[in-house]
Amino acid sequence: MKIAIAGAGAMGSRIGLMLHQANNEVILIDRWPDHIQAIREKGLIGEFEDHEVVAHLPIYSPEEIVEDHANVDLVIALTKSMQLESMFQDIQPIIGKDTFVFCLLNGLGHEETLSKFVPKENIIFGTTTWTAGLAGPGHAKLVGTGSIEMENLASEGKAFTLEVLNVFQNAGLNPIYSTNVRYSIWKKACINGTLNGLCTILDCNIADFGALTGAKNLIETIVEEFASVAKMEGIELDQPQVIRAIEATYDVKTQGLHFPSMYQDLIRNHRKTEIDYINGAVWQKGRKHQIETPYCAFLTQLIHAKEELLNAK
Ligand code: NAD
Repeated sequence: MKIAIAGAGAMGSRIGLMLHQANNEVILIDRWPDHIQAIREKGLIGEFEDHEVVAHLPIYSPEEIVEDHANVDLVIALTKSMQLESMFQDIQPIIGKDTFVFCLLNGLGHEETLSKFVPKENIIFGTTTWTAGLAGPGHAKLVGTGSIEMENLASEGKAFTLEVLNVFQNAGLNPIYSTNVRYSIWKKACINGTLNGLCTILDCNIADFGALTGAKNLIETIVEEFASVAKMEGIELDQPQVIRAIEATYDVKTQGLHFPSMYQDLIRNHRKTEIDYINGAVWQKGRKHQIETPYCAFLTQLIHAKEELLNAK
């Protein structure tokens, strides 16, 4: 399959590399000049736990994408949330009438954004438990394992989604055909909407947060806000199940010692966060449905204040 990775950061590099290793024709599209230069000069380095691979994948900036690269079968969207719209504005030349787009970003509101550029019948959504990090430009650190849920937004897209599932299976990405991907997206956003923002503002890892006297109350209140807004959007979040999933991450033997990605982006690397697409999205959607979401609103504003203090880019 001919596949373009739109947003070849940490996760885009992982998925792109694994699909390339399974003999798919993969091109990378990214805006970070140092990353583009490093991959052009030395190839994309994938540092797995027990081995390292170097893949000489073609990489382009969105502006360089011209008709030559048309007829891509699949575009996998893996920008950060705030980069999605401008990426799709710029890569229109590779999106033909039969091109599918598979969105694997975290967060809410991406369906509305992608629907501006691609018909619903050609959109696949998913969530993933794979993780990835960047040690520097052109160098992805790829530990652990994971799986990927996927589902076509419209029934017409099912046959091609099953082809994508097969391609992902052959690449060892452990795909699962989802019967309710919107639920999974909301559930993941809700988990991120508690731990990401709170650990970042409190400057602590997940286990330290979980051990706080007030942790349960904070979590329950935020999950309640997510659930009230999700309900208005047609999703019935199972609150006890989501809370159990959050509390399971406190264990130091699993994710407890981990600092969430928002913490790493903002506190360690002074990069802007996806807060507007997590708690911020719930706040804005809540306003539309006349539902108060004071914790999500406050957390969104605190994270933006911290971004300003740290001059995040
Ligand atoms: P990323 O920050 O690694 O990459 C996103 C974009 O930012 C890329 O274009 C990348 O080149 C650019 N970028 C990265 N580091 C940069 C730097 N130092 N300076 C300038 N530009 C830089 O993002 P990601 O972690 O790959 O996440 C993409 C999407 O996948 C997000 O929605 C995220 O929430 C989701 N996601 C990530 C993980 C993970 O483990 N990384 C897991 C699941 C879902």
